[in-house]
Amino acid sequence: MALMTSDMYIESLRKLNMEVYLLGEKIENPVDHPMIRPSLNSVAMTYKLAEQPEYEDLMTATSNLTGKKINRFTHLHQNPEDLSKKVKMQRLLGQKTASCFQRCVGMDAFNAVYSTTYEIDKKYGTEYFNRFVEFLKYVQEEDLTVDGAMTDTKGNRGLSPSKQADKDLFLRIVEKREDGIVVRGAKAHQTGMINSHEVLVMPTQTMREEDKDYAVCFSVPTDTKGIKIIYGRQSCDTRKLEGGSLDVGNPKFGGHEALVIFDDVFVPADRIFMCGEYDFSGILVERFAGYHRQSYGGCKVGVGDVLIGAAALAAEYNGVERASHIKDKIIEMTHLNETLYSCGLACSYEGYPTEAGNYEIDMLLANVCKQNVTRFPYEITRLAEDITGGLFVTMPSERDLEHPEIGRYVEKYLAAVEGVPTKTKMKVLRLVENLTLGTAAVGYRTESMHGAGSPQAQRIMISRQSDLNHKKQLAKDILDIKE
Ligand code: SF4
Ligand code: FE
Repeated sequence: MALMTSDMYIESLRKLNMEVYLLGEKIENPVDHPMIRPSLNSVAMTYKLAEQPEYEDLMTATSNLTGKKINRFTHLHQNPEDLSKKVKMQRLLGQKTASCFQRCVGMDAFNAVYSTTYEIDKKYGTEYFNRFVEFLKYVQEEDLTVDGAMTDTKGNRGLSPSKQADKDLFLRIVEKREDGIVVRGAKAHQTGMINSHEVLVMPTQTMREEDKDYAVCFSVPTDTKGIKIIYGRQSCDTRKLEGGSLDVGNPKFGGHEALVIFDDVFVPADRIFMCGEYDFSGILVERFAGYHRQSYGGCKVGVGDVLIGAAALAAEYNGVERASHIKDKIIEMTHLNETLYSCGLACSYEGYPTEAGNYEIDMLLANVCKQNVTRFPYEITRLAEDITGGLFVTMPSERDLEHPEIGRYVEKYLAAVEGVPTKTKMKVLRLVENLTLGTAAVGYRTESMHGAGSPQAQRIMISRQSDLNHKKQLAKDILDIKE
């Protein structure tokens, strides 16, 4: 098959039998649930754009494993050009969905697990690499969406996994059998889990010998027995249950995260890609995080493009688009947004080959990229709120606008410049609200802070990669200081 259409993708999810909970209820049909569906639509766009000839170059690639045309979200990057196309693809999807389209986590996990399993096998004579290659061929052939699962809930963060009062607070192997392993634990903040066919689990941090049961990497279908998915709330999420389209801000698209429980889940041997090789857990985490920090130089920029556009429209509808301070604020937002993109591209172009043959990003630049992402979307958001004006948080609802008696007052007194219907202006204001404070703010704002690692995680990497001794030597050379 190699490429699914977006309709085939949606139908393929109907066949899964995931155990999903939302607002305290078990959800039998997540595909059509009004709170979940917008996030599914976002992932479906990763299939839909791949069908369109104008996006073929960005959205598809040739598999190094099979030689076939595949969706780029299942690709192993083969050169710096692949890495930069990845970022461009993510910006495009951010622009088309104004939300998190979720499929990148799996892509970033594939590339990190591929190179790491190669190196584990080289050191220990294990068989993880070939197993992983077989698994990835299957993913490419079936064009699957895979949730990359890294973050454990971690309990007392001052204690290592095996020292926790409850040993399950980090996901671990609880039983080893001839034919596989049994795992128990949970993964938090799981982006797009309910829209994924498989979940590829990785360790959450560097592990030591006493924590080797926690150094585990594997993949299983998302409807495997024992996996329980608890949908995470988002600000303003129940507006999606109200039935209208204006107040949700972004009526078609969204993202989601979930708390995923692994309640004694069996993993067959051919799906295990790390099993106790604790000395490789840190490498795997670093590589996955590096790729995901690069990703943010694409997706957040695309969503930022929509927010800048919405703020500019709000200014236009209010008749202030020519004011010099408004123009300057738009320039500042653009400058910040393009700076993020520059970092995403720079770490791609400075990429280098791994021993396994796929391409790594430049770690220092990817971490600089993500460090900027922890700040700039907040400033872009601040400027968008400034330009838009306070009405985006005090405006009456769609039902008031449509009301037979009071609707005309809303229409009259919230009027925009002549020629622009009040409803159109309200839509744009709601989109700004959605991106800055509503459901999409999870992906655009708070995830900019914590996704792919919180700010301090990047500062540690920046410190490690900065090669300060080299810089000191440069100063000494200039001054002829000899020791
Ligand atoms: Fe992709 Fe961005 Fe969502 Fe991560 S936050 S899955 S990089 S769209
Ligand atoms: Fe993310």
